[in-house]
Amino acid sequence: MKAGLHPEAKEATVKCACGATFKTKSNTENIHLEVCSECHSFYTGSQGKAKKTGSVEKFNKKYGFNQDNDKNA
Ligand SMILES: [Zn+2]
Repeated sequence: MKAGLHPEAKEATVKCACGATFKTKSNTENIHLEVCSECHSFYTGSQGKAKKTGSVEKFNKKYGFNQDNDKNA
């Protein structure tokens, strides 16, 4: 490694808008996120409210199918 060239790997605290925090390594100490693995719908399996007004939801409502297992609802 060349001296003075590489950034320092610090312990970084990551804060998400949902309130989750975790630590990782970065060259900055504080990282703010809008979405993380705690709250992203890919990981939670739930959909956001904005997505609940589409044609699929209309179909499900019309025929009585309930996909509403959203803990954020
Ligand atoms: Zn989050």
